[in-house]
Amino acid sequence: MEDVDVVIVGAGSSGLAAAKILRAAGLTFRVFEAMGRIGGRAFTSTEHFGIPFDIGCAWLHAADRNPYFPEAEAGGWTLHHHDMNVDHLYFGKHKASESDEADMKLADQQLATLMELWAGTDDRVSSLLASGHAPRAAATFAGPMDFGKDFDEISIEDFRAAADLDPNYYSFEGFGALVARFGADVPVELATPVRKILWDVPGIACVTDRGTIRAKAVIVTASPAALAFEEIEFRPELPAAHTQAFFDLPMGMLTKLPIEIRGTRLGLSPFDDLLIERRARNDIYFLCFPFDTELMVGFVGGDFAWEISAAGEAAGVDFVTDRLCDIFGSDLRKHVGRAAMTNWGGERFVRGAYAAARPGKSAARATLMQPVAERIFFAGEHLAGPLIQTCGGARLSGEAVARQVVAQLAGASGTIPGASR
Ligand SMILES: Cc1cc2nc3c(=O)[nH]c(=O)nc-3n(C[C@H](O)[C@H](O)[C@H](O)COP(=O)(O)OP(=O)(O)OC[C@H]3O[C@@H](n4cnc5c(N)ncnc54)[C@H](O)[C@@H]3O)c2cc1C
Repeated sequence: MEDVDVVIVGAGSSGLAAAKILRAAGLTFRVFEAMGRIGGRAFTSTEHFGIPFDIGCAWLHAADRNPYFPEAEAGGWTLHHHDMNVDHLYFGKHKASESDEADMKLADQQLATLMELWAGTDDRVSSLLASGHAPRAAATFAGPMDFGKDFDEISIEDFRAAADLDPNYYSFEGFGALVARFGADVPVELATPVRKILWDVPGIACVTDRGTIRAKAVIVTASPAALAFEEIEFRPELPAAHTQAFFDLPMGMLTKLPIEIRGTRLGLSPFDDLLIERRARNDIYFLCFPFDTELMVGFVGGDFAWEISAAGEAAGVDFVTDRLCDIFGSDLRKHVGRAAMTNWGGERFVRGAYAAARPGKSAARATLMQPVAERIFFAGEHLAGPLIQTCGGARLSGEAVARQVVAQLAGASGTIPGASR
């Protein structure tokens, strides 16, 4: 006999959303979360700067299709429409000329066109790039900053499948706080990792340190990296194609390096975008003084983001400070206040920022969208169709998979779930 209809593994955006759909359909469920809080990669903290700071997702992308956007508006979140075009471009220590900036915009358009026309065999974005500063700067946004991967590790097919994420909104109160508010009424068992999923039994059995729970189906929202690391043991093993898909969807990385600059705005305006191009491998992007706070939020992506988080926060903060001094002069040091560095690679049950298919492996996403034995379902940002990698996409994925489970269980029992309750 099952203890509940469905077990949900993970209380991030997708798991919380799945739970709400199951509840509305009248199904019973339990949600297990490995961390000591809900939200997963959506997490706002006031600990570092005394104001909300998003350690994970911050922009409400694709606001016209993002279910969190109307909730942010209704909840009174302070929202800023952010066009995300580069306002200040530097090549190393030198300011780009106007013609360099025009070249970068052109390179960006050319890259988009080449991807549309692509019909080649080499599925790497790098195969489309000419050398030179401006194309590299354009590629930085396409690669490390957007996809969390260097451009020789990005699949053209995968990149093309992702939607344009305009319009983008940034909030003062935080995207993590919004997700926490969304999920506040979902019962979640925190600090309870699911260790094993047994499916050689009728239904499934989820083994946790606090006991084993039987259910008809399970929705697994853990990142593909956590699954590739076998944080959950599936018994028997999953079909080879599913296991392979975890490995074909490795995590990209984005490391944030927020730094307080006190008593000066450096001639910049709130929400300016500043990019320092450093051979497209070690670039750093700054979101400047959002909402006129004292924060300059640095971002590095791809391999460099893994390197810098391995080097540690002190090295990361020195790097950011030194690069800003390169541009604004060493006098800037006396304006530097508190600083921090995020480390999503060090989160055992996430292990990176978001998944990106290896070149030639974009079909891995479709593979994971197939349930196993009509009992094991996967959901999350990595399975969010055109909104892959986004928090709104993760929610839509969780909702869609939960509806699939509701239909599946209704079909299996011949009854409408919840009709007897
Ligand atoms: C630095 C950074 C910046 C980002 N910026 C943006 C942005 O600006 N806008 C945007 O839309 N998106 C952004 N994202 C992406 C966005 O945060 C994610 O796509 C989204 O939050 C993922 O939600 P999810 O539910 O799929 O996964 P998660 O949030 O990872 O949730 C899965 C949960 O499963 C738990 N779990 C894993 N294994 C187990 C287990 N065995 N047992 C129990 N629980 C388990 C995890 O602890 C986790 O809480 C960013 C991400 C990062 C890291």
